[in-house]
Amino acid sequence: MKVIEKYNDSLHNPYWKYQLGPETYEVKDTPLRVESIKKALRSDDRFDFITAQQFPERFIARLHPYHDYILNTASGLKDDDEEFYPDLFPGENANLRKKVDSPLWGGIWCTDAVTPIKKKTYEVARASAETALTGAELLRKGQEQTVYALCRPSGHHAGPRVFGGYCYFNNAAVAAEYLLPEGRVAIVDIDYHHGNGTQEFFDEVKSVFTASIHCDPTNEYPYFWGYDDEKGKGQAVGTNHNEPLPKETEIEQYSGAVDRITCKVKEFNPCFLIISAGFDTHRDDPIGGLKINTEDYISIGQQFKALEIPTLVCQEGGYNVDVLGQCVKSFLSGFM
Ligand SMILES: [Zn+2]
Repeated sequence: MKVIEKYNDSLHNPYWKYQLGPETYEVKDTPLRVESIKKALRSDDRFDFITAQQFPERFIARLHPYHDYILNTASGLKDDDEEFYPDLFPGENANLRKKVDSPLWGGIWCTDAVTPIKKKTYEVARASAETALTGAELLRKGQEQTVYALCRPSGHHAGPRVFGGYCYFNNAAVAAEYLLPEGRVAIVDIDYHHGNGTQEFFDEVKSVFTASIHCDPTNEYPYFWGYDDEKGKGQAVGTNHNEPLPKETEIEQYSGAVDRITCKVKEFNPCFLIISAGFDTHRDDPIGGLKINTEDYISIGQQFKALEIPTLVCQEGGYNVDVLGQCVKSFLSGFM
């Protein structure tokens, strides 16, 4: 299986701690996550590493109105350790006619004050999107049945209006847009957190089916999205499906939810499947709260493989660097 990567620069290493409600959180998107995945896959000769190609800026910029804001803010930082966070959120009815490119106006484009922009952030986020695009290109050419894009940073919380949740550009959405001229696309998000950005991108697009299986957002990020009554909007009603699960869910119940999603995907009959694959569902993940074991990901992968649809797997979350690589390997093994 082809594994696509582009440099995941260690200089994009957010380290801030923050308070959200009663809890203290630590940003855990460390470059060690990528090392853990590479180590597990490189030791297995079924995986073939290739470097992502470059794509014109427009493939990313056209989906993200905040593209220039991220680019300009990152390039305006003086040194590699500096981090920029928005701290002013003007709200919906503010007069936004002037100075929208000023870093001070970051609150227009970002949902939170915990997703830093660093000097390397634009470069790394763009490389991450190009990793997904390269995977999409391989599927489009019909050369591969399953491709894994080792994306970092993640993308699924970045939406068509705003980014956030450690995500800058939505890698899965960029890949889906690239594939859409060829036919319908389904995106299934299995990260512990609901894929709110992805859902919003395609909420009104009837040629893209989106589904997410995640921890119940009543008590978990992203809080305001991911409930089971979100079914798509306008002409696209019926093309979104959410499976919110209680904390501590184990594989039996989890597999049932995956079955319900794969049935919906089959009905939709897409030409391509994109899986936003986060492994913060693992029982030992420091952020997540589900109870999936490392070897359980094999059977989850098999459930998706049974659809027999050309599939692009995009890396999302997963923060226990001791197990992350093995989780990815298990999941991808399910497709072999
Ligand atoms: Zn997550």
